[in-house]
Amino acid sequence: MEQLSAKELRDGIAAGRISSLEATRAVFERIRRFEPTIGAYLSTCQDMALERAADVDGRIASGKTVGPLAGVPVAVKDNMCTTFGATTCASKILANFHAPYNATAVERLLAADAVIVGKANMDEFAMGSSTENSGLKQTVNPWDTTRVPGGSSGGSAAAVAARLCFAALGSDTGGSIRQPASFCGVVGLKPTYGRVSRYGLVAYGSSLDQIGPLARTVEDAALMMNIIAGHDPADSTSVDEATAPVCDYLQKLDEPIKPFRIGVVPQFAAGADEQVQKALSEAMEIYKKLGAEITEVEMRHLDYAIAAYYVIATAEASSNLARYDGVHYGHRTANPNDYVEVYSKSRAEAFGQEVKRRIMLGTYALSSGYYDAYYLKALKVRNLIRSDFSAAFEKCDCIMMPVAPTTAFKIGEKVNDPLQMYLSDIYTIAANLAGVPGISIPCGSDDRDLPIGLQIMTPTFAEDKLLRIARMYEKETDWHKKEPRLAND
Ligand code: GLN
Repeated sequence: MEQLSAKELRDGIAAGRISSLEATRAVFERIRRFEPTIGAYLSTCQDMALERAADVDGRIASGKTVGPLAGVPVAVKDNMCTTFGATTCASKILANFHAPYNATAVERLLAADAVIVGKANMDEFAMGSSTENSGLKQTVNPWDTTRVPGGSSGGSAAAVAARLCFAALGSDTGGSIRQPASFCGVVGLKPTYGRVSRYGLVAYGSSLDQIGPLARTVEDAALMMNIIAGHDPADSTSVDEATAPVCDYLQKLDEPIKPFRIGVVPQFAAGADEQVQKALSEAMEIYKKLGAEITEVEMRHLDYAIAAYYVIATAEASSNLARYDGVHYGHRTANPNDYVEVYSKSRAEAFGQEVKRRIMLGTYALSSGYYDAYYLKALKVRNLIRSDFSAAFEKCDCIMMPVAPTTAFKIGEKVNDPLQMYLSDIYTIAANLAGVPGISIPCGSDDRDLPIGLQIMTPTFAEDKLLRIARMYEKETDWHKKEPRLAND
């Protein structure tokens, strides 16, 4: 049963062929066996999950209608507010924070009758590329437990890859869904900025953050998008459906795009590891056989994406994280001498190193005298990158490039070199700066049998096209069927 996709499981449950309670029990049995090694979850909610699963089975048995994800066990990244369990953002500062409401994306999963099994580990406040910045737990890569699962949605990606849930929600500010999806050999989709409500998502870089699915197949990602996409009056940056209608992403999924042109940026992709480049060219060959025409596009400002991103994201983070002051939320220092110490000691004691580094960088970039030189300049670069995408999309339907320059790296390999860590986002960050959607799909393995991801990007709100292009590849290949071999499985 664990081998099924979320869609297959959903269909089986809806038809009364499979019991959700059995599927949920099977997931918890795997969590019992493998979670001690993988470390994907910060918390699980077994009682609630089993209760909801039994309720779905009961409703189906009595012929009542159920939602589109009825009975399917899923995971949620721990930066989305939930009324059940804690919402920690993997930070000591929020270790005991219990949210008074559910994030809209979580609310939509529940309304679709999904069974939420737990909250997934992540880099603290989603800052990182390896989940090593979690202040609470280490997650490992199910393909090689000496390696990182990627980040910051590393818990979500590892849980999907290790079959500790059928699909998961992650969030992506600069690559945090796509990069861990690539490292763990699963599908990860970052929607257009504004497509999915951010209400109840703990803010990191508000103009970049977006919630999206991690799943076993492109079809499952489409199913998840059907549930979470759409306008939300509680999030003023979510786009209304008159401007950008949400479509049924599953309905036309199997209709190939024909003819279609793929844009590539050769000099940019040249920075990737040889094996990653090889996998990418092989993927292009498959698309060519499927009728695609490959054209080279020029995107002159991509080289500045990392620099602009780390100014904008840290500036926004420094402002967003000001709320953790020892008064409103979370950790408060014991026995402060005055109110200044309440602020400074609470923050000093409970924020991790990377979070502190980013608050300092962002505060510096926003400080008077430097604002124009750094923040304003970064915003101008962001606009140029956006124009690069618009110009490129006049010549092609989608852009393809690697997701990350390498496959999963060793735990500890980059923790002491933040710049090296930042470089692992080189291919993913531009989509966040421009607001366009991007997907990572499994497209190969390196000589250590570690997964490699292919990244596809389309114009804003063209998630339907993005999913269809990804699906064309998935139907031709078996990479998404490969599974990590877990010890004692
Ligand atoms: N790795 C990038 C960062 O550290 C992106 C993280 C993310 O997308 N949340 O900022």
